[in-house]
Amino acid sequence: MTARVLDGKAVAQQILKDIATRVGARVAAGKPRPKLAAVLLGDDPASATYVRIKQKDAREVGIDSQDHRLPASTTTEQLLELIDSLNQDESVSGILVQQPAPRQIDMTRVVVAVQPFKDVDGFHPFNAGLVALGIPGGIEPCTPAGIVELLERSGVSIEGASAVVVGRSNIVGKPTAILLLRRNATVTLCHSKTRGLANYTKHADILIAAAGKPNLITREMVKPGAAVVDVSTNRVDGKQVGDLGPGVDEVAGWLTPNPGGVGPMTRALLVKNTYEAEVRRRP
Ligand code: NAP
Repeated sequence: MTARVLDGKAVAQQILKDIATRVGARVAAGKPRPKLAAVLLGDDPASATYVRIKQKDAREVGIDSQDHRLPASTTTEQLLELIDSLNQDESVSGILVQQPAPRQIDMTRVVVAVQPFKDVDGFHPFNAGLVALGIPGGIEPCTPAGIVELLERSGVSIEGASAVVVGRSNIVGKPTAILLLRRNATVTLCHSKTRGLANYTKHADILIAAAGKPNLITREMVKPGAAVVDVSTNRVDGKQVGDLGPGVDEVAGWLTPNPGGVGPMTRALLVKNTYEAEVRRRP
């Protein structure tokens, strides 16, 4: 079997095109243009690149973007002051604080300080709570929402499927499990203390690999025909690789390329969240 591609790049383009149309219509109707405020701390080149790409995506669909660069020595208090001013700025639809932040920054305080309606990363406990409880209106975190949207738009059936998520972080694994559960999958959430990981993955119709461990998922651990989403962005010999070992593409029925699978979806969902945050705040 050679897996069909879960083409994140193509699906992300569809989403961005749709948002561009909606932003255009909104602006034509005299409404304010949505705006994304991106906060970057320090001079880590990878983080700077991520922010630049996210802002480019936003601009391409007609969303304004605003850059806030702070030195690596910034204190939590100084960052909180900036967040406060962005919270109060009527023109700002969404606030993004690029992670990882320098070590001295207390990210829990920062995440909680962002106005929930502007929390386009979907990290605020208010949004996480709404999403977990299935209450409409919560902003879903970009990577999990992107994973689920990629599966749905590609025609992978989620309802009734056995889904296994490997990784339980608050930004990827846990919310992905919740979103799959909300779509009526039967979900197992695995982590580093899971005994006999293969016993779970082997029965998964949908397998989400988000452990950040190259070659963790071998072909023997994949159910023939499964939809496999390789979230991780490990660096090996200067190249991005996921968690899948060789030959998984021969067993899986569906597979994300890596890169070109989840990454573009995450970025598209940030743009979508920014647009929707604006519409919700100023209908
Ligand atoms: P993380 O916070 O490091 O979490 C990793 C999770 O994997 C933890 O829950 C950990 O378990 C689990 N794990 C580690 N080793 C394992 C093993 N041997 N067996 C089973 N589970 C294991 O990472 P993250 O932020 O969730 O990100 C995961 C990966 O996705 C990273 O490579 C990251 O770069 C990538 N990522 C990609 C995108 C994208 O857009 N493509 C977005 C976000 C993240 P414990 O909880 O027990 O420690």
